[in-house]
Amino acid sequence: MATPAGTVQGTVPQLTYWSRPRAWPRLVRASWRSSLQFRTITVSVALSGLAILVVGVYMSVSIGNDLFQSRLSQVLFESDRATSAAQSLFDSSDATDRVQVQNLLSSARTSISATSSSRLVAVLRVPGQDPSTVAPLDSSTFGQSTGVIGADLRTEVQANDGDQFWQSVTLTGNEAESMPGIVVGSQIAVPVAGRYELYIAYSLQDAEATLLFVQQTLGVAGVTLVLLIGAVSWIVVRFVVTPLRVAAETSQKLASGDLAVRIPEKGEDVIATLARSFNGMADSLQSQIRELADLSEVQQRFVSDVSHELRTPLTTIRLAGDVLYDQRASFPPATGRTAELLHTQVERFELLLSDLLEISRYDAGSVELESEPTNLVHLAEDAIDSLRSLAESKGSDLRLVAPGGYLNADVDPRRIRRVLHNLIGNAIEHGEGKPVVVSVDSDASAVALAVRDYGLGMSQGEVAHVFDRFWRADPSRQRTIGGTGLGLAIAREDASAHNGWLQVWSSPGAGSCFRLTLPRTTRGRLESSPIPLPPDDAAGIGEAGHVPGMRGGPHD
Ligand code: ADP
Repeated sequence: MATPAGTVQGTVPQLTYWSRPRAWPRLVRASWRSSLQFRTITVSVALSGLAILVVGVYMSVSIGNDLFQSRLSQVLFESDRATSAAQSLFDSSDATDRVQVQNLLSSARTSISATSSSRLVAVLRVPGQDPSTVAPLDSSTFGQSTGVIGADLRTEVQANDGDQFWQSVTLTGNEAESMPGIVVGSQIAVPVAGRYELYIAYSLQDAEATLLFVQQTLGVAGVTLVLLIGAVSWIVVRFVVTPLRVAAETSQKLASGDLAVRIPEKGEDVIATLARSFNGMADSLQSQIRELADLSEVQQRFVSDVSHELRTPLTTIRLAGDVLYDQRASFPPATGRTAELLHTQVERFELLLSDLLEISRYDAGSVELESEPTNLVHLAEDAIDSLRSLAESKGSDLRLVAPGGYLNADVDPRRIRRVLHNLIGNAIEHGEGKPVVVSVDSDASAVALAVRDYGLGMSQGEVAHVFDRFWRADPSRQRTIGGTGLGLAIAREDASAHNGWLQVWSSPGAGSCFRLTLPRTTRGRLESSPIPLPPDDAAGIGEAGHVPGMRGGPHD
């Protein structure tokens, strides 16, 4: 029986299944296994997506850093300029009383705001100085962001006169929104009032907006690039996979017996080379198979011609032999025995010739079944009746077990009778005088006949050859009904001509069971057999040191 051919690479599950989300993981796995195109596209999209992600993150981080650094330098420059401007205002002032100092500080703050382009300015008196009645109180326009000036920053500013210090902070805007910012601190000396800490806060909102814009642009560009890469690799892979798929389908057709298929050869590339070598291989395969077929046809015709040609002289020899055989009593004893020998051998010769002709008809495919509704129990009874005298001479008891059921089947009765005759004859021959049981059973779709003997049986190795032409377990074994060695080979052909199975189970010393299963109708297909094989009474054999063997049927 033919085994199902492998699936072709690149078969993608049907699109309609994609509309059921629960089936997706299974479909993705199936597509990954079966489609080269799907695998290649997935891998290229995943790898390029990863590469784009890494580059995108790197770009985003370095642009963010750069934006921050340039804003920081600008902020430090501006705050330095503002602080210097305020300090020179203080240095050139001659304020002496509290009101004058207060006014001076106010105008310094205005100037700082103007020079530093920041509205958030805080002036805090450095703690630890002598209390002064003229010193103005701390003032701040930080509003909701007042708390952002950290203790560390203040300590550094208080300890280092003349230096600038900065700190990254989160500022709170007018509408309570958070935004990144920088606070720059330094000391200023206010006439009469002493040293003050000056803090100016700058918002980084613009830089953040720029960075967000850059990130969005990078994101959109990255996704577009991945989609483009997916589309491009789909097109490229199609170029490669389509010819490969054609090659796979073509080789599958070739493997299933269509020897005329070829791959279209286009261009000079590697695919074209593949196509050319494949086609060359197919050509040589086709011509070799044709040669072999011709040769086998010649051989079959030879066997058939020889068998036909031998029939006429054999008939003459048979007639002459019969005359001699009838008169053997009047011959001297030695001549009489020769006449008897001649008679048996001519009979065997005739049998062999008719078997050879039958098998050559099968080989030539010229066998036509003459099927008719037939009762299998009747056929079995006929076969048993015709072999009863042989069974009695061997001491075997012939039994028929037929539980009933659908026993009629469309079969060619002549051929099935021949199969049964052969199986029962073999069972008697090799049954060592023990009973031979013929069972007939059926179900709605099949009928089965089993012939069970309890004789010699066969080893596993012998069972493997039992249907081979001219094979005998022991060629020197004494035969009562001159077998030709073709009986089971023909029986097997008869079974397959009916779309049936002929199977065997055997175990040395435990006997054999041959089972013929046939579909009840000519177009029927067999799925199972109504009779079990190994037979029920064989349970446990095999564990006792025997090697049971099975052969035949649909999987051979
Ligand atoms: P033939 O009976 O003409 O020799 P077959 O094709 O019918 O040819 O059988 C081939 C061989 O299979 C036999 O020679 C015998 O060795 C073996 N065989 C067949 N049936 C049995 C059986 N029931 N028990 C043991 N051996 C068997």
